[in-house]
Amino acid sequence: MMEKDTMCVQSGWKPGNGQPRLMPVIQSTTFKYDSSEQMGRLFDLEDSGYFYTRLQNPTNDMVAQKICELEGGYTAMLTGSGQAANYYAVFNICENGDHIVMSSTVYGGTFNLLTCTMKKMGISCTVVDPDAPKEELEKAFRENTKCVFAETIANPALVVLDIKKFASLAHEHHCPLIVDNTFATPINCNPIAWGADIVTHSTTKYMDGHGATVGGCIVDSGNFDWMAYPDRYPGLCTPDESYHGIVYTEKFGKGAYITKATSQLMRDLGSVQAPMNAFLLNLGLETLALRVERHCSNALKVAQYLEKHDKVAWVNYPGLTGSKYYDLAQKYMPKGTCGVIAFGLKGGRAAAGMMMDQLKLAVIATHVADSKTCILHPASHTHRQMTDEQLVEAGVAPDLIRLSVGIENINDIIADLAQAMEVTD
Ligand SMILES: *Cc1c(COP(=O)(O)O)cnc(C)c1O
Repeated sequence: MMEKDTMCVQSGWKPGNGQPRLMPVIQSTTFKYDSSEQMGRLFDLEDSGYFYTRLQNPTNDMVAQKICELEGGYTAMLTGSGQAANYYAVFNICENGDHIVMSSTVYGGTFNLLTCTMKKMGISCTVVDPDAPKEELEKAFRENTKCVFAETIANPALVVLDIKKFASLAHEHHCPLIVDNTFATPINCNPIAWGADIVTHSTTKYMDGHGATVGGCIVDSGNFDWMAYPDRYPGLCTPDESYHGIVYTEKFGKGAYITKATSQLMRDLGSVQAPMNAFLLNLGLETLALRVERHCSNALKVAQYLEKHDKVAWVNYPGLTGSKYYDLAQKYMPKGTCGVIAFGLKGGRAAAGMMMDQLKLAVIATHVADSKTCILHPASHTHRQMTDEQLVEAGVAPDLIRLSVGIENINDIIADLAQAMEVTD
């Protein structure tokens, strides 16, 4: 097995003699076959092959394969966005009447998806405090609980998940654990190695890394034994009427989960990633290991600077020795956590606005985790729809400023913050 920084560059595409060195973009909606019989077999999932890009595209598959290797997974697929990845990851195994257990600190978009939109589909959700002891978390489970959902490092609360605790809890209740690993990236953490069954990503963030494309990815470990609970996972273990009675687990074994998600959910719901976006994502992935290292070292220095600043009320960064999550971060992410820092100013909300308007290098943007330093006030921006009570539950204080530290020179980033901080009196 190669090291991860090598996989970033080499995985997914192995050119043959005379073929392009760079992973090519197959910019085509459709693929041609010589016989009608052969095309028919593809539609029956009897043969594997490309026929229509909504279902599968070679460029998308090569990029998914690279991410799959980085995560130590069995199979993977790309989706049109991180939202689509999380939606499919859950909906692939939950249906009307089912129930999900979800960490309260997940990304605002995921919170809305799992608590509001999926409720309209008859899927209910119990929100739990990820820091609660196991005995407390047990109470959230029901007979119809079909999965547990959490984030390695929560956006933007920066709560570090005790992955082993969550994995054992999920497995004791015959459920898979789904972990959104967007912030940690596979460079810093492989949730599958700690017991997670399915990993999702918003590739929009560090993986693309340049703010160029919106995208998502689902990686399946192939480890969860659906066949051990055929009554609980009928979608995977009983005949699919929309596919001539195929039973995914029987026909595809460890590949059942991703095959069902592509051939059924992608077919019907269609949140496909554009091949051109997958091509651009691959260019981002080539430098992922380099960039993540720089993001983490810059962020640690910024966090240490803010911690000592007299106008700063609090700093939350799991890499700080004083952080509540330092020990968990050391256990699961010894090489570093992420480039995102949360902090509050003594002047509260008003000072936050003044400071942000004064920044020159850091821009105000609804984005995180790309090469350019950016800043956001979640209570006024991304989490605007949430009530104060929900904000507190999500670990988002009203004065929380989310700073996404880029890969610029550290001296310039700190100088920008220093000059902006001067105007907050
Ligand atoms: C951004 C984000 C998402 C949503 O991803 P999109 O690509 O914007 O749809 C999901 N989870 C996490 C942790 C995120 O940061």
